[in-house]
Amino acid sequence: MLTLSLVLSFLVGISIGSFLNVLVFRLGTGEKITGRSACLSCGRVLGPFELVPIFSFIFLRGRCFSCKSRLSWQYPLVELITGTLFAAILYKLAILGRVHTNELVFYWVITAILVSLAVYDLRHKILPDILNSAFIILSFAKPFVIFRESPFMLPHIASGFALSLPFFLVWYLTSGRWVGFGDVKLLLGMGFFLGIFGGIAAVIIGCWLGAIVGLTLILCSKLVKKYPLVFKSSFYSGFGSKSEIPFGPFLIFGLLMAFLFDVSIFNIVPWSGII
Ligand SMILES: [Zn+2]
Repeated sequence: MLTLSLVLSFLVGISIGSFLNVLVFRLGTGEKITGRSACLSCGRVLGPFELVPIFSFIFLRGRCFSCKSRLSWQYPLVELITGTLFAAILYKLAILGRVHTNELVFYWVITAILVSLAVYDLRHKILPDILNSAFIILSFAKPFVIFRESPFMLPHIASGFALSLPFFLVWYLTSGRWVGFGDVKLLLGMGFFLGIFGGIAAVIIGCWLGAIVGLTLILCSKLVKKYPLVFKSSFYSGFGSKSEIPFGPFLIFGLLMAFLFDVSIFNIVPWSGII
């Protein structure tokens, strides 16, 4: 029964992921979200068999059926990630023994918003206000949706402001050079959603991953410059120490990991229990 539910959750997830691809692509362009999808190169409206999440990409071998131009890896990746996250959330609730529809759907909606935010930030280096606001409002409303949680609101509200305040100051003092205001708003929602201890853990995970990815990209760009014949890829050459890597996707990764595995500061900082 659980296996079947997990498969179904995955299928719902990849379908939502497919929609998120369209959403991220059209958001801010003035194009309707509901219009039919078309090939970006030849403009032909896609048929039903080209719109099946993940499978279409595999069967078409990542190319448009008529003009053979390459399709972006973003499409199947976003579908796969969303499907995996949807199934993982159901699994988490199932092992805790509390699969309630309202809770499951609430977390799925939050996940869909977070995936869109991360992809949009990777593409455009900005966290769109409409998605950020939706995340903040839903996270704020979490105790009303999940009644099991403490009705006492003060720690919940304080967590959001406590987590985002240091980053707000950094944003203010560096005039947005070190951290964007979109990230500050994201952190407000993260604090509401995870609480202060989970929120700090998510920020630490995000910073570690960001540092690893940032250093790897800088190293790669140095290698490309030094050995241009070995590393021909122009992909890495744009990343120097000054180039801007968006922070949002790393924060969102940290948030999802902290949420799925119930990580809090007490799990990752050994001495934090003593304080
Ligand atoms: Zn085409």
